[in-house]
Amino acid sequence: MKLPGPFSITRVVETEGPSFAPDFLLPDAVPDAFAQTDASRDPRFYDAASNKLVMGFYALIIRTERNVILVDTCVGNDKERPMRPDWHRRNGSFLTDLAASGCPAESVTHVLCTHLHVDHVGWNTRLIGGRWVPTFPNAKYLMARTEVDHWQEVRRRDANVNHGSWDDSVQPILDAGLAVIVDSDYEIEPGIHLMPAPGHTPGNVILCLDDGKQRAYLVGDTIHHPVQIERPQWSSRFCADPQLAATTRIAFIERVAESGAWVLPAHFPRPTAVQITGDAGGFGFTTPQT
Ligand SMILES: [Zn+2]
Repeated sequence: MKLPGPFSITRVVETEGPSFAPDFLLPDAVPDAFAQTDASRDPRFYDAASNKLVMGFYALIIRTERNVILVDTCVGNDKERPMRPDWHRRNGSFLTDLAASGCPAESVTHVLCTHLHVDHVGWNTRLIGGRWVPTFPNAKYLMARTEVDHWQEVRRRDANVNHGSWDDSVQPILDAGLAVIVDSDYEIEPGIHLMPAPGHTPGNVILCLDDGKQRAYLVGDTIHHPVQIERPQWSSRFCADPQLAATTRIAFIERVAESGAWVLPAHFPRPTAVQITGDAGGFGFTTPQT
């Protein structure tokens, strides 16, 4: 699916649908509080029948004249995720769907994981002959230094951190020499650079795009669900530092509101891209005309 914004941005979906109860993902979204939000009345974003937030798991692909940049690599196939039955030993069509969208694995020049959680690193690797090998053999895998340092340290204490995804989806990239460890404001090419957004994880980054005509921000899990635009103080249960995540989210939303920039998070269901409206008195968003 083509998304609005600078350069050319497309979305390739791994899964999409009702995912988590509001107050499971967002502990502050207790039933009374959630019921007062616009998102709770929008069937694109909330499935009332199952009481679950609708979420997508997808990669975003940016094409420029020079590069093909793949942002966030979902859950992946064949991974051992016994604690998450829907992620355990998946056998999905993501890679063929990616190729069908005009982006064969060999064409990818950069992979960016906005952070190193299990659902953002999965397709970094695939299982071939019993070994985890890089899925994108010609790509530089960009990882923020703060993020790598943090999870490397945690991994030393806990082999199962992030459902074991360090060992099957990050370490093999480091071992293959394809990781490029960068500062949190790294520039990939003119008009495309990272911006630090700590809180969800210590080294979480946003990818900023500006082609001189339009701007977009690929924010990863800085904003998980559309309801957090109305309620930017609500952080997720997966945030390492919920307070800092909220501070980062609020500052970002205040900065881009009314700017016309497109905001493309990692889990917003279709239509995925939004433009934030409003001010500190109350934020909202508009979606693309279809
Ligand atoms: Zn995520």
